[in-house]
Amino acid sequence: MTPLHISAPESLSAARASVLPTYARADITVVRGEGCQVWDDTGRAYLDFVAGIAVVGLGHCAPGPLAAAREQLDRLWHASNLYWTEPMLRLATLLGERFEGGKAFFCNSGAEANEAAIKIARKATGRTRIVALDGGFHGRTLGALSATGQPSKWEGFGPLVPGVSFARPNDIESLEAALAPASDTALLLLEPILGEGGVIPLEPAFAQAASELALEVGALLCLDEVQAGMGRTGTFFAYEPLGIRPDLVTLAKGLANGLPMGALLAGERAAPGFVPGDHGSTFGGNPVVAAAACAVVEAIDGDLLAQVTERGTQLATGLEVLPGVRSVRGRGLLLGAELDRPVGPVVDACRGQGLLVLSAGPDVLRLTPPLVVSADEVAQALRIIEGVLAS
Ligand SMILES: *Cc1c(COP(=O)(O)O)cnc(C)c1O
Repeated sequence: MTPLHISAPESLSAARASVLPTYARADITVVRGEGCQVWDDTGRAYLDFVAGIAVVGLGHCAPGPLAAAREQLDRLWHASNLYWTEPMLRLATLLGERFEGGKAFFCNSGAEANEAAIKIARKATGRTRIVALDGGFHGRTLGALSATGQPSKWEGFGPLVPGVSFARPNDIESLEAALAPASDTALLLLEPILGEGGVIPLEPAFAQAASELALEVGALLCLDEVQAGMGRTGTFFAYEPLGIRPDLVTLAKGLANGLPMGALLAGERAAPGFVPGDHGSTFGGNPVVAAAACAVVEAIDGDLLAQVTERGTQLATGLEVLPGVRSVRGRGLLLGAELDRPVGPVVDACRGQGLLVLSAGPDVLRLTPPLVVSADEVAQALRIIEGVLAS
């Protein structure tokens, strides 16, 4: 093999100019990962409490999904959705067991899963309007962006998809106003915990009101579990402890442990919306990716979920007592610590100390480590964050 790691850094730095600057990337090039660690091209190790933005739930290069994908790579890469493939059928069955009776549509990303939710809701209800939450995030494609309650992300991209109204999270009156019977709403689209919007959990009373109101006015309820789903909050779906059952669920980030995959799960009120020809995706349900996702779904059992809750409690209680932390929000291993200072320099300083962490808005430190993180790794991360906040 060419010793890429010796000759690469300089030529690859120059290559950065060849990438459209849609992200303000940090100044490291990640070349390898294992478990909760990644390494850069200088050989430096980092403890990874980002996990590719809540994606690599079972850890980097997790043996189960790795073996499943490898085995499938040797058998069949792609067949298209003109035919059935075994991994896709197995995954639909496994997800249908978790979201009882749900039928799946497979795509390649979270944004696409939400686009599918918008389309099936319009088709199933014969209506057009969408209600979503201020501060919510549903993706960057035009439909998903139009339902994203963050006006700064709209600038320069209008006209947006018309017919979207926003309610305030955990404000039932504001939701009632947005969902008024005359509003002709097709879809109520909610994150169970607003991730990008600052790690804001929906209160059970708000979620239950949303579910009842949607049913009352004839709209479908979709929970966007792209970030919060797949065991991240200590239950397979983050909506479970809220005491609701949505008509639609969207998944993506953690679904295939880092291979690109999105899914829409549709219950009985929504599923009749799609008939052959209504929607599609060339790569959707790709056998390699679906094989990895099957291994992920099978790995999320009671033991792993209990561990997520335990490690989440350890991390949250450790964060609460640190200097500069105002409050800690979230559930399981989707946590946000509201700081008394801008979070950007804290993220940079943590990386300097060998810990990768995220932000969510201007002053929230977001932590989304792999679900398999150990007690020692949580303690190590807390020590680094404490050192950074104290300095
Ligand atoms: C990341 C995210 C999306 C968008 O997913 P992509 O795969 O980047 O398109 C949608 N909804 C939520 C809640 C997310 O966190």
